[in-house]
Amino acid sequence: MTRRLLILLPVAAAVVALSAQTPNDKPILGFTAANAAKEHALEAQFDAKMNRDNLRAWMQRLSARPHHLGSDYDRQNAEFIASLFRSWGYDTKIEEFQVLFPTPRKRVVELVAPEKYAAKLFEPPLPQDATSGQTSEQLPVYNAYSIDGDVTGDLVYVNYGIPGDYDELERRGVDVKGKIAMARYGGSWRGIKPKVAAEHGAVGCIIYSDPRDDGYFQGDVYPKGAYRSENGAQRGSVMDMPIHPGDPLTPGVGATASAKRIDRKDVDVFTKIPVLPISYSDALPLLRALGGPVAPPDWRGALPITYHLGPGPAQVHMQLEFDWKIVPARDVIARLPGTDRADQWILRGNHHDGWVNGANDPISGQVAMLEEARAIGELAKAGSRPRRTIIYCAWDGEEEGLLGSTEWAEEHGDELRQHGVVYINSDSNSRGFLDIGGSHTLERLTTQVARDVNDPERNVSVLERRRDREQVLAASPEARKEARERQLIRLDALGSGSDYTPFLQHTGIATMNVGYGGEGGGGSYHSIYDSFDHYTRFGDPGFQYGIAQAETTGRLVLRLANAYVLPIEFTTFADTLSRYLDELTKLAQMTRDEIDERNRLIHERAFEIAADPTKTYVPPKPEPPAPYLNFAPLQNAIARLQQSARDYDRAAASLPSDAPNAAVREAALDQSLMHIEQVLTRPEGLPRRPWFRHQIYAPGFYTGYGVKTVPGVREAIEQKQWSEANQQIEIVSKVIENYAAQVGRAAEIARGRTE
Ligand SMILES: [Zn+2]
Repeated sequence: MTRRLLILLPVAAAVVALSAQTPNDKPILGFTAANAAKEHALEAQFDAKMNRDNLRAWMQRLSARPHHLGSDYDRQNAEFIASLFRSWGYDTKIEEFQVLFPTPRKRVVELVAPEKYAAKLFEPPLPQDATSGQTSEQLPVYNAYSIDGDVTGDLVYVNYGIPGDYDELERRGVDVKGKIAMARYGGSWRGIKPKVAAEHGAVGCIIYSDPRDDGYFQGDVYPKGAYRSENGAQRGSVMDMPIHPGDPLTPGVGATASAKRIDRKDVDVFTKIPVLPISYSDALPLLRALGGPVAPPDWRGALPITYHLGPGPAQVHMQLEFDWKIVPARDVIARLPGTDRADQWILRGNHHDGWVNGANDPISGQVAMLEEARAIGELAKAGSRPRRTIIYCAWDGEEEGLLGSTEWAEEHGDELRQHGVVYINSDSNSRGFLDIGGSHTLERLTTQVARDVNDPERNVSVLERRRDREQVLAASPEARKEARERQLIRLDALGSGSDYTPFLQHTGIATMNVGYGGEGGGGSYHSIYDSFDHYTRFGDPGFQYGIAQAETTGRLVLRLANAYVLPIEFTTFADTLSRYLDELTKLAQMTRDEIDERNRLIHERAFEIAADPTKTYVPPKPEPPAPYLNFAPLQNAIARLQQSARDYDRAAASLPSDAPNAAVREAALDQSLMHIEQVLTRPEGLPRRPWFRHQIYAPGFYTGYGVKTVPGVREAIEQKQWSEANQQIEIVSKVIENYAAQVGRAAEIARGRTE
């Protein structure tokens, strides 16, 4: 019986029906029916241990003072977290790395013409926010890994500052060469803005929070509501993470004290120009002083001005100086050895450092992970030890560029490739809906977990609540049909933006990123107002979604740790790949058509004739026509994988099994499954960014956090590098062929036909 029908029943009947559903007979991938029943019983004990008061108390403790990388309270938090893990029976240590972390010595942004205005660059304390007054410990508002610089230039408004915005500027005869680019937050990860501005010749970059995207246009501002106030500004890293994350001085190796470090002048992930973030109260005088063409309609924000593009007459002076020091990053690593397959590691992490007090980002996720770890530790003490080894990781230095997780994954790369099975990440968490991304081999595991976790506000499963929301918000009838009928959660592909990146995209470990959100209200992100006071008013006042999160990730950890066969499936992944192939084929076709169409309009002078003659208009230049690409190798490889996946499904249907001789087959199968994600990586990595080795998932070179699937091929098409696109199709096809062969071998093992 479905829950949908139950809604129509009278309350008493519904209660009976619901409790009748609780028996432990729902299947769990990787478990026999009898073992699934035991696992459900264990998870019921786990749920019974959940206590919201712990989350509240730990959040209050961990966000009581600013705790950025290298600060004294960051060290105290690491030690506190380690002491908790120890008290719950984990074998715990703090692993320290030495990482480059610039902090500001001097910050100046001033309008020098046509009038004068000095940006305040300051978030004022509020009486309603108890920790906002800890000014002596707060990091000022800045972007980490901006270079030092002292520049003056005419200002140009570049909208979100992504590549397409510069095409629009060019049409209007505006260029940023020798000028300062002013971009609003949004539209891409922040680090893309100075990168693209520098590529177009800008000498400086300012990023501001426009109230349309992040402020009063969204809702009441803090302290009345949750949203960003006029003086709130967004700190954040601008390291060129699509090249590689982690310590800039030790790419590819762990930043231990004795590690070989490259020279600062050889670092390839600093910005090329100075960049600083400002609030909208500081942005307003600068934008108001701009002349030149009026900005296109969708470039206009919510400030009370007409948005102009410039350049000038607004002229801006920027001066930035940083203290380029090396500081310790402290990762807390806590192990619970498995009883049976101790050499298989289930990894689970969340960072502990914040930009300032960081109650939401990252402590809301950290405290849920701690509660989960406490319960699992207590179950182990009471005799229910996990079959595989569980490793909890509280990362430091995430905010600067995934420093703690990347250095740890690099330092332990060989062990991880040998023992790592799955890494489960989380970060900020708040009221709302289950949001989950990851490797597409894990969709059934994820769906079964979401089926078994209760939504605290609506008293249905979090799976059902998510599905209903998808149906309500569906943008098309097809999307609605899929939301209604597709049995499994479709995982989002992972780009970057949190600590899963070094595990998935560098090491090749299957990965998930899990959190709740969507109802907490935004606006405190990376500001001094991301505080206990803000979080307990807006984020998740009752910490109910902290518990939902712990129940979700706790189940994922327990099922992965206790499964008799690792809960990995291949048909879901093969189908996802064939969707990506469709997208790529359409993208190539669309790009080809667009070039042809534009060339025709250029030839007919249609752009000039259509333009307003009183305004500057520069028509686009003709481009060489695009060739047809040969997708056949990719089609063949994916077809082969679909065949192997079906083959595996049939062969593995009999496993796990209670039959006396099954255990040997199960163990052999696990050995083959646990390393399979690594087959999707290549040691050579992606073009121009060898650190990123995964051939299916990567953060976009020009999107930053946003994912590019089949990135070698997709980005070559987007960049119109046709011969590279053909080469990459060959490369990815071979990778998928190898993967299909490995799935085929797993099928053989499942059948018991091992050599
Ligand atoms: Zn975070």
